[in-house]
Amino acid sequence: MKTTTITPNVTQLTRFRFVNAFLVREEDGFTLLDTTMRAADALIEAADGAGGSIRRIALTHGHGDHVGSLDALKERLGDEVEVLMPELDARIHAGEQVVEGKLPGSWPKLETKPDRLLQAGDRVGSLEVVASPGHTPGHVSFLDTRDRTLLAGDVFTTYGSAAVTNHFYWRFPFAAMATWDKAEDLESARALRALEPAILLVGHGPPLRDPASAMDAAIAQG
Ligand SMILES: [Zn+2]
Repeated sequence: MKTTTITPNVTQLTRFRFVNAFLVREEDGFTLLDTTMRAADALIEAADGAGGSIRRIALTHGHGDHVGSLDALKERLGDEVEVLMPELDARIHAGEQVVEGKLPGSWPKLETKPDRLLQAGDRVGSLEVVASPGHTPGHVSFLDTRDRTLLAGDVFTTYGSAAVTNHFYWRFPFAAMATWDKAEDLESARALRALEPAILLVGHGPPLRDPASAMDAAIAQG
């Protein structure tokens, strides 16, 4: 697992060179944002290495490459960890049909039930939950209110430059292939841009500092 310090409060953890999770520092330890896949031990070690333990696991959406270590983490950390999932994606995982038709992307079976369902405007420590549906019905992003670092899940990728996941992008086609509603995804990209983030962090790709113009270009392309 590759570890990259982004800000004094945020560390990016990269698994298999293509999927990111993040440790967000709070007074009581870390919020782990997304879990990559088959990485429970490595994620716990990374938190130890960064000097804290994982207190909460917050998910941007329900796709397998983001929730893929959740059950193993829950098994290791037990009731000490709180699990937070966007409401609609949690209902999809619970087997409810929340939208018409088949959902693209991988939705692996999860044993872990969330302790808290996330809605726009909720707070998770220093993070504010921002609605960003489209890639999945319930997709949310998280804004670090301390310094406007934006954790945008799969609304954008940042290989080469920023791209919105509403259209095929040759550098990383998988994200767009898994996107449920392309028009809504683009609307969410606009909403995230309007937050004036200082740093853009995503599920797939490197951190992007001062991302305004790159996000504008991505939205124009999208
Ligand atoms: Zn995804």
